[in-house]
Amino acid sequence: MQRTRKRLCRLLPVVLAVILLLPALPAVRADDASDLKALAAKQADLAAAQQNAQSALERVYYQRDETKVKLQLTENQLANANAQVKTVGAQLKETQDSLAKLQTEVKLTEESYRQQKARFGERLRAVQEMGPVSYAGVLMGSSSFADFISRWDRITVIVRHDNGVIAAIKATKSALEAQRQEVANKEAAQKQLLTQAEGARQTVQAKLAELTQLKADLTAQEASLHAQVATYEQELDAVEEQIYAIQVRMKRAAGKFAPASPMRGRHEVTAEFGFGPDPIRGGTRNHGGIDLAANTGTQILAIEDGVVIYTGYDSIYGNRVVIDHGGGVASWYGHSSKILVRVDQAVKQGEAIALVGSTGMSTGPHLHLEIRVNNIRQQPRDYIDF
Ligand SMILES: [Zn+2]
Repeated sequence: MQRTRKRLCRLLPVVLAVILLLPALPAVRADDASDLKALAAKQADLAAAQQNAQSALERVYYQRDETKVKLQLTENQLANANAQVKTVGAQLKETQDSLAKLQTEVKLTEESYRQQKARFGERLRAVQEMGPVSYAGVLMGSSSFADFISRWDRITVIVRHDNGVIAAIKATKSALEAQRQEVANKEAAQKQLLTQAEGARQTVQAKLAELTQLKADLTAQEASLHAQVATYEQELDAVEEQIYAIQVRMKRAAGKFAPASPMRGRHEVTAEFGFGPDPIRGGTRNHGGIDLAANTGTQILAIEDGVVIYTGYDSIYGNRVVIDHGGGVASWYGHSSKILVRVDQAVKQGEAIALVGSTGMSTGPHLHLEIRVNNIRQQPRDYIDF
């Protein structure tokens, strides 16, 4: 409550000055205010659109990584499918070769069966043609009964032998036929396996083509979204610059001291003005300025036109620059890694005066900024939006 009153007291002269100055303000202020409103809305829209594009881009990244893994797997599957087709194909070729051999053998056996049978038929016919007369002839021609028996036996033996040969060929032929049938069955089964393997390979190939297309689509999407994000970024930068210019113009129109941010780009407020935790000694401290964390080497800009009245080093502020802005107002810049200006140098608002560092009492690279009026430290947020 007390702090609020204090703050009101401090702001009262500013408020009074603004009220007193109002009738004298140029007409452009109303335009600036409405422009600022429109720009803020545009800024919000752009930020939302950029966020959407960024989210979409992250989804594309995720899908792309997923597709990469799937592609790798599918390529392995295709290699396996190709190997399978090759193996089954080789097996089928082997079976077909042995089938051809068997068919030749069957043919040869059939031929010898046919010949043997023909020969046997001739012989049988010859024996039958002898008829009963011939039998008698055989008998009559025989000098003795023993001779006759011997001749008859010989004929019988020959016939019996022929029969045996034919039976053996017949058995061989049917064995070969059975074997051929078995191999033919094997061939049919292997043909089916080959068809299946080829079908599987085609499926994997189709999947691979699909994934390759998806990868190409995702790469195109990624490029397009990248471009979108970059465009929004540029548009946002442009809007921010316009906002900043209007804000400076409005501040200048409202009074004499119109400071601007001491840093371009992103920076984080790591310690506020006033009472708060002491990062070095522990406990609490009364912080005389505001701390803005940024990378070492980031440019520190003069917050307003002025003249450099101090540059130097001490164990608390480290490398420090002090700029006098007239009317009892001064700005202090502490902990820099390098000072870029000299005493008595006139500087313009936004001019680089030093680089961010961590000299003096500091726990990391940052700018300690103080605004002093008649050497009394002020709340920087009363003057600058951080
Ligand atoms: Zn500080």
